[in-house]
Amino acid sequence: MKKVNKYLISGTIGLLIPYSAYAILVTQNTSSEINKRQLILDKLEPLPEIQTINGTLIKYKDFKTFGRFENPFNEYRIQTIYEFFFNRIVELFERNRGSVPTNKDELNKLMPIHKPAWTISDTPSLLQKKPVAPLNFKIIDESLITDGIEDNETFRDNKPVKNTWLGQSCNFIEHGNLKILTDPHFSPKLFGKWLGPKRITEMPASIDEIPTPHVIVVSHNHPDHMDQISVDKWGNTDALWIVPKGLKKKMINKGCRNVVELNWWEACEISTTDAKNEDFNQTKYRISCVPAMHWSGRSLLDANQSLWCSFLIRVGDDTAKSDKPRFSPLVYHAGDTGYVKDLAPRIRQRYGSGVRLALLPCGQYCPKWHQRSRHIDPEEAIKITRELRAKNTLGVHWGTFTLSGEPFREPKEKLEELAAQQGIRDNCYCPELGKTLEF
Ligand SMILES: [Zn+2]
Repeated sequence: MKKVNKYLISGTIGLLIPYSAYAILVTQNTSSEINKRQLILDKLEPLPEIQTINGTLIKYKDFKTFGRFENPFNEYRIQTIYEFFFNRIVELFERNRGSVPTNKDELNKLMPIHKPAWTISDTPSLLQKKPVAPLNFKIIDESLITDGIEDNETFRDNKPVKNTWLGQSCNFIEHGNLKILTDPHFSPKLFGKWLGPKRITEMPASIDEIPTPHVIVVSHNHPDHMDQISVDKWGNTDALWIVPKGLKKKMINKGCRNVVELNWWEACEISTTDAKNEDFNQTKYRISCVPAMHWSGRSLLDANQSLWCSFLIRVGDDTAKSDKPRFSPLVYHAGDTGYVKDLAPRIRQRYGSGVRLALLPCGQYCPKWHQRSRHIDPEEAIKITRELRAKNTLGVHWGTFTLSGEPFREPKEKLEELAAQQGIRDNCYCPELGKTLEF
């Protein structure tokens, strides 16, 4: 026994020493990259109030060290395995974590669940089973376009955006006949059918009740943002999966045949393959991949092998006669992100202000010292709303799984209280599960 213990201890130390050296080197490499970029930025943007597109593209370019992605931002602090495991141990001692009531009626009152409209319409099976038409798509490297978009260059699109929150960051979005699903998760537990924390509530709709989407966007490779049953359901359809750089191969291995991967500042332009296709006529959309501060991976081994991002969905002006296509910002799907001081203003400068609907995470912020590099809190969600000049914000990524220390409804209460204080409560709140809202 003593011998086994001795091997175990020396084996652990033998792994931890090189790991610690690796973590120090990653931190050093990242900080020297930040400094290098700052020197260029100081010349391009000599005054703090000046922000340029070229500066944005230099400061917020993706960064890899030792073959893995890192956040090249001052606001970020890498999460070592020491911090990760320390927090998991602290969690074991937290009593009534998440403060979720055990009484079902009480929970139903606090978290009402609606059946999405399409499941109770007259012909639900038609909408759900109708296969989507394949899309035309092309990748556009928007980092080559160095002008910003002035607000007067966008246009007003009059079609409503409908959004149905299905839990965590999973939303079913409709615009005209285009259907987009974000960060799909339909399993009863975090890691699938059997493993991990259970959902706090029932799901508003089962995966079989979800109409086939044209596009599925996945913001990053974390278990609460994409599960295997979604891949099994739509991987072999004409639905187009849009994922961040480094994830395409994994998606294909999981069973997806129609995948596009994007780097920060790249976009996927989509349109129908056939002009007569009634799905969404001639309308073009651009789905741009923009920076976020987070991480990715499902185990220690695949940490940060693929990038993480937010997506900005813009609709094209199908009445425009000019050669220069015009796009209007429709939906900002933030995925998971920590707060980065000048990122949202720069995204606004790049793509135009006044996105119709911002889907911003507002939960998983406790304890703040641990979560702040990777998750925003309600206060920061309001800041981003202001910085994007978003017309409407829905707070998501809360009330679905207990993954952090705050009481499960606190993100909603805080976001709505702060929004009320700032006079924007009608346009900034947390949705109810399964309820289709129109913007
Ligand atoms: Zn995440």
